[in-house]
Amino acid sequence: MYINKKLKNIAVELSGGAESSLLYYLVCKNYQDSNIYPITLVTEKKPLYADVAKRIIDKVEELTNKSPAKHIVVHGSQSNYVDALDKGVDDTVEKYNIDIIYTGMTINAPAEDVIKWVESKEIRTKYNIELQRAKKHINGRDKSRDNPPSHDTITTLAPKHKILHCSPWNDQNKKAIIGMYCREEIHQTLFPLTISCADDKIFDTVEEYIHCGDQCFPCIERTWAMDTFKKDYTDEQMV
Ligand SMILES: [Zn+2]
Repeated sequence: MYINKKLKNIAVELSGGAESSLLYYLVCKNYQDSNIYPITLVTEKKPLYADVAKRIIDKVEELTNKSPAKHIVVHGSQSNYVDALDKGVDDTVEKYNIDIIYTGMTINAPAEDVIKWVESKEIRTKYNIELQRAKKHINGRDKSRDNPPSHDTITTLAPKHKILHCSPWNDQNKKAIIGMYCREEIHQTLFPLTISCADDKIFDTVEEYIHCGDQCFPCIERTWAMDTFKKDYTDEQMV
């Protein structure tokens, strides 16, 4: 991941999901002397995202001794959340003289691997997954995220800002993220606080956002990543 300690003002898009939380942690760990601005989008369908992100910020402070210069909470509507988040980023870049912005995008896990995994009866019993429903969600995933974007992991945010934009995992999937949690030894502290669910339900508590089981693609993908990471790499590191 690109780190340049000369940079003073750092922005991180922080939703509270596994990727953005890990990214925020790594930024705090590596930029101890800089000003860090996590940016969180709240919509009518995700009213608790500011609280979700705040839990991550507090835990990261515990782990790295680094607190944010300011937590930027942007309000927007779900129907145009991309524009709302972009505007929040633009405003932050301008107001706080941001030098670099980090985003934690990953690509989808390979659908055929996830389908093969979910077809195992043993897996479905273990995680209480219903096959047809899971397949429906896997096939209904956002296919624009199946392949890495054509741009590099470091780009200049052009043309209006001329600042750096770093998206270090835009060619990796969730399993790589789980691996990094283990390597950083934060898989038992930070990871359990991260959320997964992209279900459209509006939940009443922060905990409910963490995992829905097999009701949405990100939750199936997360279980796949944890399960197969364990099999591939280790028996004991993951909880
Ligand atoms: Zn879910």
